[in-house]
Amino acid sequence: MAGRARRLADALRKAGLKPGERVGTLMWNHHIHLEAYFGIPGAGGVMHTLNLRLHPDELAFIASHAEDRILIVDDVLLPLARRFLDRTRIEKIIVARISDEAAPGEFEDYEAFIAGGDPSEPLVEPEDEFTACSICYTSGTTGRPKGVAYSHRALMLHAMCLGMKDGWDLGQNDTTMPIVPMFHVNAWNFPYAATLVGAKQVLPGPYLDPESLLDLMAGEGVTITGAVPTIWFAVTDALRAEPGRWTLPPGIRVIAGGASPPPALVRGLDALGMVPIHGWGMTETTAGATMAHPKPEMAGWPREQVLDLFAERHLPMPLVEVRVVGDEGEAPWDGAAMGELQIRAPWVAARYHDAPGTEDRWTDQVAGDRTADGWFRTGDVANIDPAGFVKISDRTRDLVKSGGEWISSQDLENAIMGHPAVKEAAVIALPHPKWGERPLACVVLRESAAAGPDDLAAHLAAEFPKWWLPDAYEFIAELPKTSTGKFQKSVLRERYADRPWES
Ligand code: ADP
Repeated sequence: MAGRARRLADALRKAGLKPGERVGTLMWNHHIHLEAYFGIPGAGGVMHTLNLRLHPDELAFIASHAEDRILIVDDVLLPLARRFLDRTRIEKIIVARISDEAAPGEFEDYEAFIAGGDPSEPLVEPEDEFTACSICYTSGTTGRPKGVAYSHRALMLHAMCLGMKDGWDLGQNDTTMPIVPMFHVNAWNFPYAATLVGAKQVLPGPYLDPESLLDLMAGEGVTITGAVPTIWFAVTDALRAEPGRWTLPPGIRVIAGGASPPPALVRGLDALGMVPIHGWGMTETTAGATMAHPKPEMAGWPREQVLDLFAERHLPMPLVEVRVVGDEGEAPWDGAAMGELQIRAPWVAARYHDAPGTEDRWTDQVAGDRTADGWFRTGDVANIDPAGFVKISDRTRDLVKSGGEWISSQDLENAIMGHPAVKEAAVIALPHPKWGERPLACVVLRESAAAGPDDLAAHLAAEFPKWWLPDAYEFIAELPKTSTGKFQKSVLRERYADRPWES
């Protein structure tokens, strides 16, 4: 891998890549993408991972905004690339062949391209450790996509932290498999962290169905893997459907993050012999910033109690500082006081790439000053308990404001997903003539399972005050998902905007 990455670096330099210039990648998780993770920065360039699930219009905007000039693209993704290339400055296209299709003659073939690179040529030294190594755009669920550039320093410190016991405890005896895409937040830094410690890396390519993933996990002896909860729903279902088909390595760590995993899922992973690790992070925080690990004083706790805590709460990793700021200023760590989660760490972004008007996301931003101690305003609503465990309740815009009081849509949907008949659930706020907003639950039932609004209401009533319970339920075949596999509530809000409330 190192030799091929060095060839890529030299070939890129020979192709005229200047230090600091962006090179786009439009690829699945596979070895060529890994080579790009090293070869592009090795040539002094900045790797810009493009999200292959975005609309061509968005990709045109993002690739233009980042001023990508060179693109490395999977052959199977060329049809997508062709839909936005002419709206960008991309002038050189290098095609990675991952299918049996004949090489598209009009573009350069990746293998031929790197064959022209000399692996003994020295790599380009970054100007300093703050030099950008890669850039990734937020998926734009909150407005226009914004670019976050990651410095060599941020990625290295974050990777080192993942190696720590209370990060991911990564080491050379691990076999890693990022299911989280390499085009989103550097696959949560799996590639750099695994390479740093010398772990074997398994990359699933475009095959993300549960059977393919389980074949790899069992066949390659994966010891740590990570994905959004939606993937883990499918994987646990597949394991339960065919007991005995797959033997997973004992103690395999399963990172679930990007959205909150319902307690039923965390318990399910544990029951199936996996070690669930719930993490929270954002594009702006170089992926995982908090991870669920037990504190010493929890040593005697029953497993169920630990798992239920982990489904909800996670601890800041070393070097990460968190606080919750409400209307009254910084909130106490009492496990209840809610406010906006703010965060500070050496790998939290200090600004967005070329995005005037976004400075208010940092508390005391000093333009251009790298040492400014601004806290990043996450836009997530959270509380912190006395032990320091953080609980994310919602994104600010997902909270339901009913009669002046807040209802956490995330708490409700996780509880609904704890009902045995429910596969997926999303709760949204809809305008209400009397209360301002009230919750509507959109529910996908498991195949051949039955449950009605009364069953779900009774299930929720055991846990929540009456005024929290959704006023109505929509039973639907599928929940819309974002490009990174999260429930896309904006689509649901639009779909049901004019839905009348039954009296
Ligand atoms: P986007 O979804 O806008 O692309 P990211 O992929 O960076 O942005 O996702 C970051 C957001 O995902 C966080 O601000 C938070 O709302 C949500 N998120 C991430 N991890 C968790 C988690 N463990 N629990 C709840 N929400 C999470």
